[in-house]
Amino acid sequence: MKRMVAVLISIMICMPLFSRSRKGPLTVLAADGTTLAVLSSSEDAAAHPAADYLEEVLAEAASVLAQKNKWDQARAAEALMTNAYTVKTAYSREVSEALAAALSEERISAGAAVTDLEGGVLAVLSVGDRNYALLPTSPYSAIKPLTVYGPAMEAGRICWSSLYEDAPVKQVKDGSGIPRPWPYNANQFYTLRKMDMADALKRSLNTIAVRVAMDYGIMNSLTFLRDRFGVQPEYEWRKVNEQGEEEILANVALGYLYEGFSPLRMAGFYQCFAARGVYTVPAAIREIFAADGSTVYQRRPQTIQTFSPETACVMNHLLREVTSPDGTGAKAALPDIPTAGKTGTGDRGAWFVGVTPAYSCAIWHGAESATNHAPEIFARAVGAFPASEKTEFPEEKTVMRIPYCPESGGRYSNGCGKMKEGYFTADPGPCTVHGA
Ligand SMILES: [Zn+2]
Repeated sequence: MKRMVAVLISIMICMPLFSRSRKGPLTVLAADGTTLAVLSSSEDAAAHPAADYLEEVLAEAASVLAQKNKWDQARAAEALMTNAYTVKTAYSREVSEALAAALSEERISAGAAVTDLEGGVLAVLSVGDRNYALLPTSPYSAIKPLTVYGPAMEAGRICWSSLYEDAPVKQVKDGSGIPRPWPYNANQFYTLRKMDMADALKRSLNTIAVRVAMDYGIMNSLTFLRDRFGVQPEYEWRKVNEQGEEEILANVALGYLYEGFSPLRMAGFYQCFAARGVYTVPAAIREIFAADGSTVYQRRPQTIQTFSPETACVMNHLLREVTSPDGTGAKAALPDIPTAGKTGTGDRGAWFVGVTPAYSCAIWHGAESATNHAPEIFARAVGAFPASEKTEFPEEKTVMRIPYCPESGGRYSNGCGKMKEGYFTADPGPCTVHGA
């Protein structure tokens, strides 16, 4: 009898092992299938060497579980740490190590994120007292390709050789009530000349970004962000509805967004410039398994054809101009890997967000340094990422390289003086300054 009881008790003790609610810590796997972390609490995650990446994993996993089981976030977070789940991620050790090495050379607060071109989050890394890689902040000029140039080109409002004047748009009273020309250019002066889109982007001229944005329409920019990137900056939407487009010109055209976007978001957005216009919502998690090995969740990538392949191709060539020797992102260039991207610099930090044929990478650093070091951090990191089979950006058959006259933006002819070359989806038409 005693033995029977003992057997019964031991069966009862063992039972939870076989039930669906088996208890145990969370196992996080890297992309190569090796164990990245075993976690019993959020404190474990915070103390882990890959803490910045794990923060994103835990947030994604908790919201998957909450949605699937109709739990609130707190219950999902609790279950995540105690129900012996296994989470398979896109984490890349090689990319994370290269990024860490590139950031360690600067003594500066920083946040950086890398995705592949299918939205897989390969690395998330921060230096300093916060996880800046996941913290929204103003993107400054790094927003221009997403809210101004890309959308205006997609709508057919501009092409490579479109000319806009590098001159202030209006007078705005400063703190002492004195009218000042607006917007400022970063170099503090205006050429008062007409510039094409290649020059405007590679010199990051605020005057021209504002003029193109006004032509395209600020409300259209916000709508583009909503429909093509799935984001709705709350402050800007409220303000545009209450006070009109003019009030959020700097926010939308120059990236002074009230809340802004995190480096991970920015890396996600820029993917489309190297992926034939397709934006894939970034995700660290690929699969979640229950304790019994059954699949709880499998990622189905959410994609949007944000730009046509042709627009993405022309934009990619424009963004490559930024990393040319006289571009603001010259230091992001690498000898054997094509790079395309955009700088952003303001009073709260500095950016470079860019793509290669295999990666999208956003680097942000704090304003402790007045100079923007993000392009060289980008080059150091990307140059050390694992080599990919993809060594060239996608080209489109319908995108043509055409010589044009920089005085008119029209097709170059013998009567024209200077000649430039650009990428076009349609013939820019004859030069109107020098005749046929
Ligand atoms: Zn001409």
